[in-house]
Amino acid sequence: MKIYKNIPLKKYNTFGLDYKADCMIHIKTEKEATAFFNGEVSWQKPLLIIGGGSNILFTSDFKGTVLYPELKGMKIEEEETENGYVIVSAGAGIIWDDLVEWTVIKGFGGLENLSLIPGKVGATPVQNIGAYGVEVRESILKVKTISTDDGSMRIFNNAECQFGYRNSIFKTLEKNRFLVTRVYYKLTTSPSLNLYYDSLKQEVNMLGKETLSNVRQAVINIRQRKLPDPELVGNAGSFFKNSVVTSAVADKLKKEYPEMPVYEEREGYKKLASGWLIDKCGWKGKRIGDAGVHDEQALVLVNYGKATGKEIFNLSQEIKKSVYEKFGVDLEREVEVIGVI
Ligand SMILES: Cc1cc2nc3c(=O)[nH]c(=O)nc-3n(C[C@H](O)[C@H](O)[C@H](O)COP(=O)(O)OP(=O)(O)OC[C@H]3O[C@@H](n4cnc5c(N)ncnc54)[C@H](O)[C@@H]3O)c2cc1C
Repeated sequence: MKIYKNIPLKKYNTFGLDYKADCMIHIKTEKEATAFFNGEVSWQKPLLIIGGGSNILFTSDFKGTVLYPELKGMKIEEEETENGYVIVSAGAGIIWDDLVEWTVIKGFGGLENLSLIPGKVGATPVQNIGAYGVEVRESILKVKTISTDDGSMRIFNNAECQFGYRNSIFKTLEKNRFLVTRVYYKLTTSPSLNLYYDSLKQEVNMLGKETLSNVRQAVINIRQRKLPDPELVGNAGSFFKNSVVTSAVADKLKKEYPEMPVYEEREGYKKLASGWLIDKCGWKGKRIGDAGVHDEQALVLVNYGKATGKEIFNLSQEIKKSVYEKFGVDLEREVEVIGVI
């Protein structure tokens, strides 16, 4: 366990915001995590667990303790080739895309559509990450955690994680109460590919055969074309979630704006592309100081260099306001705002 005081957070968040935390603790093993939470170490509350910091917007210095899990290891736990599945596990501190690459090389299917999503393994069940018609909940078997109350270990099976759209029990009922230490994924050894998205299918076909590695490569190609690289321009991917509204609201809007993309959701509800709504309000490519809206993807807010977290937050408020005024739709942030606003 390593303890750092008054630590700059710039390299710990993909917006590249230059705030500080009073204290940061790097944890490498489950034993260290247990010791940390069962009272053997004294630390200052509040607590923030951080992975790659790719879904976080800091708006001020963090007056508390940041816990940075560095638990490593990718492992095949069980291989049932006859039944066509394999269980792999990875430590919370593993870079997510390293795990995806490893599984694709091994020929295990399930994670390939989620290639190149930034961040660490530990956040994947928290966020229920998703892309190109796939959500990670479809592959998660169980999640190993340590209670932040007393250091005890608890395993959550898939149902107990209460996964929803970019959501889970770790973001709602049990927020900040569990440190994810290891995640177990059930993958298939005879993959059936998900090419539901036309753009993905076309890209795969351009690469050649419909194989796991071509799906991964196609996803990487599309993402690299469409999304800003946080190494070059600070951002946290989609700043807002797509908007789930009642079918009545969606149908009324569709009548007014026939070109508006609308997707089926659970019964009685439809999903609107929030990026489209933001674009229609004229925000795409707009910039206020160094805080801006990406010129290719209106859902992504960016830091062109010296924006503060508050400036990015204020921009998001302006966007929310104008989308509400024009469409009556209340955008929900996907990015978690941490700090004083
Ligand atoms: C360019 C770009 C593209 C993106 N594209 C997508 C996309 O296609 N789909 C998608 O779903 N997301 C996307 N994202 C968002 C982001 O990558 C994901 O939400 C990712 O899972 C966040 O991982 P992280 O390790 O950076 O988590 P962080 O941002 O560090 O944390 C996110 C949340 O998880 C909690 N947390 C993190 N680790 C742990 C742990 N070990 N135990 C308990 N809680 C923990 C944190 O406290 C916080 O609440 C994108 C982001 C960027 C920058």
